[in-house]
Amino acid sequence: MPSDNITVDGTSLGHNRRAYESEVRRQIAQLLLYISGRAVLNEIWHNGRTVRIIPTSTTRTTFRGADAHPTNWADAEPRNARLFDGSGHLMPGRGTGRGSNVIIDYDPWEWEIDYSFGGNNTMLANWPPEFRPNRVRAGNDRTEVLLHEMVHAIEEMNGLLHPHPLGNHYDTDSEFNAILVEAVYARERDRSFRSDHQVDGPAGSGRGASAQFTSMFPSTERNDFLARVNRFRAKLPSLAARLRDVPPPNPFRGFDHEMDSPLYDWNDR
Ligand SMILES: [Zn+2]
Repeated sequence: MPSDNITVDGTSLGHNRRAYESEVRRQIAQLLLYISGRAVLNEIWHNGRTVRIIPTSTTRTTFRGADAHPTNWADAEPRNARLFDGSGHLMPGRGTGRGSNVIIDYDPWEWEIDYSFGGNNTMLANWPPEFRPNRVRAGNDRTEVLLHEMVHAIEEMNGLLHPHPLGNHYDTDSEFNAILVEAVYARERDRSFRSDHQVDGPAGSGRGASAQFTSMFPSTERNDFLARVNRFRAKLPSLAARLRDVPPPNPFRGFDHEMDSPLYDWNDR
């Protein structure tokens, strides 16, 4: 039985509180329309820790963008592990592995909405331009941003956050994991996805967007991407098992030619 451990709290916005809370709930409701979204939300609902979603402006005034951070860093990281902050920098102390409650800073209005909802893109392309859904860049859709932060939250709630630095423009292995789930969700919706992580710019401003999973590690062998997926499976086996239910192309189901099947180029810039 899923628990009611996600709260949306727009109190800091004063009279905009209700608009914020209903918009965030709408994003969560959209995630529930998709197998990958349900996989992530069920993983959170079956955890004893809590997630509180608050407006980004509550904690920060300059940096825009979403963030998921534990209320207790030591509890968010594996037992006896050296502590890394969210950017992969060492901090004093050691992890306990107990799992932490999580705060997600997220402002839906910073991001766009892809109204195509995985529909028949060929049909949509024939609509009159003024009624055609926006072309939303990979990683810039509101639900993609929220889902990404929820994957960070799952690592933190399970005491598994260990964001050591990783190359290929991913910053850390935790970012790779979050972007991988974001990619599975994007493909389920027939969208392209980010193939790197660029924290200092808007989502999608990094090396580029792709519809091919193996492009997520272009500078190395395809086997390195597969090894990364296997590490994800070893670290988050329950989430990986839930994600297997997403139809191919889906790297959690296995690696065949379908993984690199072409995508209608809805997201070209
Ligand atoms: Zn991230």
